[in-house]
Amino acid sequence: MNYTCPYCKHHSTITDPNEYYNWERIYIENSTSGNVGLAIHAVTCPNKDCNKLKLRTMLTRVNMVNGEEGIGIKEWNLMPESTAKILPDYVPTSVTEDYYEACKILNLSPKASATLSRRCLQGMIRDFHKVTKHTLNDEILALKDILDTDTWDSIDAVRRIGNIGAHMEKDVNVIVNVEPEEANLLIQLIEQLIEDWYVAREDKKVRAEKLRQVVQSVEEKKQTKNNLSVD
Ligand SMILES: [Zn+2]
Repeated sequence: MNYTCPYCKHHSTITDPNEYYNWERIYIENSTSGNVGLAIHAVTCPNKDCNKLKLRTMLTRVNMVNGEEGIGIKEWNLMPESTAKILPDYVPTSVTEDYYEACKILNLSPKASATLSRRCLQGMIRDFHKVTKHTLNDEILALKDILDTDTWDSIDAVRRIGNIGAHMEKDVNVIVNVEPEEANLLIQLIEQLIEDWYVAREDKKVRAEKLRQVVQSVEEKKQTKNNLSVD
């Protein structure tokens, strides 16, 4: 199984000792859920610097033909609690908090999740691009000439989808009905923009600092050499 660790983002192929799956039928009087069973899925990240546990559990129906695992009814992410990616410290706390919360309640309440995502998106635009307008839609439109084509196309594509587009016109705190897939798209857009904006800016800063240090050490060596030849 191909696996991307939700904690360290390490990509790997998971083999047996790092993965566990078990399903067990629950023998109990019929409830309104019918005949059910519980599955457990656990993965340990093979990256030695991480080794963190991902754990989820699924309630499923029992296949009445053979008494084995049937279709899923509900699933819970236990560790980590949501599918949110762990964001680096240099992303503003308000953005991080809205993003984590939006991921956490995605399945429970897509409309609450989408509301948080819209607020998060607005927070990012205001913080990163220093653009503040009356509505999120106006703020997005103001980015058209600032952003590279790929980033703009991603935002525009999500903006044009069904309900989301209409909601961008409203105050970000107004709760509006959306489908789970739409709420999920907003989360994916936020993840991409965090990479394109905050992570890319930080990487650039780190590379520039490394280069500055190399230049400094070359200069120092040169200086020492000059001093020696003067002596
Ligand atoms: Zn990991």
